[in-house]
Amino acid sequence: MPRHRLTVANRQVYLIPCLTMRRGITLIAGLVLAFCVTACSPDDPADANGDGLRVVATTTQVGSIAAELGGDAIDLTVLLHPGVEAHDYEMTTADAAAIEDAALILRSGAGLESWLDDALSTIGTDAVVADLSEGVELREVGEGEPGEGDGGAGQHVDPHYWLSGPNAVQMVRNAMAALDEASPSDAAAFDERAATLIGRLEAADAETRELISEIPEERRGIVTNHDALGYFIDEYGLRFVGSIFPNLDVSAEPNPRDLAELIETIRREGVVAIFSESAVNPELARTVAAETDAHFVDEPLYTDSLGPPGSGAETLDEMLLHNAGVIHDALIEG
Ligand SMILES: [Zn+2]
Repeated sequence: MPRHRLTVANRQVYLIPCLTMRRGITLIAGLVLAFCVTACSPDDPADANGDGLRVVATTTQVGSIAAELGGDAIDLTVLLHPGVEAHDYEMTTADAAAIEDAALILRSGAGLESWLDDALSTIGTDAVVADLSEGVELREVGEGEPGEGDGGAGQHVDPHYWLSGPNAVQMVRNAMAALDEASPSDAAAFDERAATLIGRLEAADAETRELISEIPEERRGIVTNHDALGYFIDEYGLRFVGSIFPNLDVSAEPNPRDLAELIETIRREGVVAIFSESAVNPELARTVAAETDAHFVDEPLYTDSLGPPGSGAETLDEMLLHNAGVIHDALIEG
């Protein structure tokens, strides 16, 4: 699918034309409301937020990086909330206002947030848009459903790159560079916090390698709910067997023939465990597990979303370690 380059308020952003009709209607309705809110309120709504650098982050992962690096120096709005699957998002009037007022928008990129492109083309904003996937080697996954994982030029890429430690480090570096540029007077503080977070990520990465290396080779087959673990599987030496939902997002229901084939493959390959994810309905995965000798793992993996407060998966390094621990235990003991 071709990319179009468009200038929005002197900032160049890439637009990917892959909006579904339903999303389009939701967005338009949201924007009409947003216009009313901004046009009808006497004060700039951002004034209530204080005088920090106004930053919008799209996903929970991007939001956690921004919150940690930015600290008190930024006024942060995170669009997605914990527990929400990241491919779909319905814009609220408050979110539209935050985008309009932002100085910096941090996005996950790699085709994940096509809805942001649509919003940027409709909402006037002077914000710099920084793509945190810059410099990450993205997995190509062939043609998929339009609207997700679109890497441009007909190539579809897997957007879930944050699930590998080295990629998460690159995300932090990109966020740091964008924040430094947006507020040079705070750069030293941003850089110091980034170094701390990168240190934790590198430790989590090393521990993840250690945990996965303990799993016997023949037990390393992975079946997940939606196909989110590609980067984790590649990075840490697991084997992808299949996913319940056929695409990278969960908008397309699996058909009974595909499910029957997956069940057959799970039996043939002696898959030990089937994993669920925090932001994806687990019922179908549970049903598939019941048809095989694999056990269903109740403890969810955090993939599209970080965990809520108290989950122990509230930051990228915690998410990595949580997932590694769940996979380690399920595949060794299952
Ligand atoms: Zn996903």
